[in-house]
Amino acid sequence: MNEIILCKYGEIVLKGANRKFFESMLNREVKRRMYLYGPCEVRASQSTITIDPKTDTFDIDGAYEEVKKIFGLVGVSRALKVEKSMEAIADALRAWVPTQLSQYKTFKVEAKRSDKAFPLNSPAICDECGGVILSTLPRLRVNVRNPDIVVRVEIRDTAAYIHAGQDKGAGGMPVGSAGRALLLLSGGIDSPVAGFMMAKRGVKIEALHFESFPYTSERAREKVVELAKKMSLYCGEIHMHVISVTKIQEAINENCEEDYFTLLLRRFMMRLANKTAEKYKCNALVTGESLGQVASQTMEALGVTNVLAEMPVFRPCIGMDKEEIIEISRRIDTFDISIEPFEDCCTVFTPRHPRTKPVLWKVEREESKVDVDALVDEAFETLYTIKITRGEAEAESND
Ligand code: ATP
Ligand code: MG
Repeated sequence: MNEIILCKYGEIVLKGANRKFFESMLNREVKRRMYLYGPCEVRASQSTITIDPKTDTFDIDGAYEEVKKIFGLVGVSRALKVEKSMEAIADALRAWVPTQLSQYKTFKVEAKRSDKAFPLNSPAICDECGGVILSTLPRLRVNVRNPDIVVRVEIRDTAAYIHAGQDKGAGGMPVGSAGRALLLLSGGIDSPVAGFMMAKRGVKIEALHFESFPYTSERAREKVVELAKKMSLYCGEIHMHVISVTKIQEAINENCEEDYFTLLLRRFMMRLANKTAEKYKCNALVTGESLGQVASQTMEALGVTNVLAEMPVFRPCIGMDKEEIIEISRRIDTFDISIEPFEDCCTVFTPRHPRTKPVLWKVEREESKVDVDALVDEAFETLYTIKITRGEAEAESND
């Protein structure tokens, strides 16, 4: 049997004059990712993208799983593609119904005939197909008001399609349609979720991770690479930049009051994020911060770091409970990696009594005890980049 994949556009159908821009971006993304599964034709019309395998070698199971991860599509389904004749449609239904409808009690058929040359009109197609389905699985009943499943038969220009049910697509907007942002990616639960949420709104994600070798280990960095690999299955290629904050942490540790350690480190992170974003042409920063989650995420503490931001900072988890964040992290399959117990630079040199209501001038006074500019420049020199594509990490570079 000849199977195809049908994908429904999401929010982009609401775009007015710009709709073409979003559509062509989404179509390009679908093509790029579907070609990885073998030869196929990808066509878009009437808010639907059709993926039609050209040979038996096309991996339709793999393609179907992939297409559910493409932002911009709200619904996906697998359909049978058959010759445009009632005999061919009936034959196909007889083979297809036992596996596809066996778990349901009631059904109805909906027919759509965009090729008006087809000899039967829509009600007649429904009658014919309903009859074939009932004779194939006699325990099924027709229920036009509230069926368990709707079987759709569409007579299109080149073929007839039969399908039932629809899986949820990833939703959102095509990646890249909303610009590029730099995600501060730690090994925790929240930041991969934050990156996923912004990518869903069409943001192309670039990542920045801070390490503090030898206080943080090679394995801790590997864990973050694993997280980025999972994210890349949704977000596309991710360039993950890594900066060492070892010297910064040592300087803070030696010179500043302990209560301010985390806040000071976070202010350095913000400065380095500004520089990285500028270098790699990102127009916003993204963090996994959630209000009140830890001492450095009170409104006052966020304020003390936020004053240094040179661009918008998006914090999509800010109003979410941990449980809600965990739910998403399970869905995108990052949770099990995030909970692996490895240290993060934020967890070394942690103060026993961190300031929860810091005052900016006092933070600045502590900070003035170290040479901020020199430390930032020195840390920025350590930047190197790991390219993560489709679940694989490529060689590192520091260009
Ligand atoms: P996560 O928030 O990802 O679960 P976490 O809770 O351990 O990790 P926090 O200490 O809450 O991290 O840090 C808040 C945010 O700061 C993170 O969501 C992330 O955006 C950023 N951040 C923290 N540590 C790092 C790091 N080592 N590299 C890059 N960004 C970091
Ligand atoms: Mg957190």
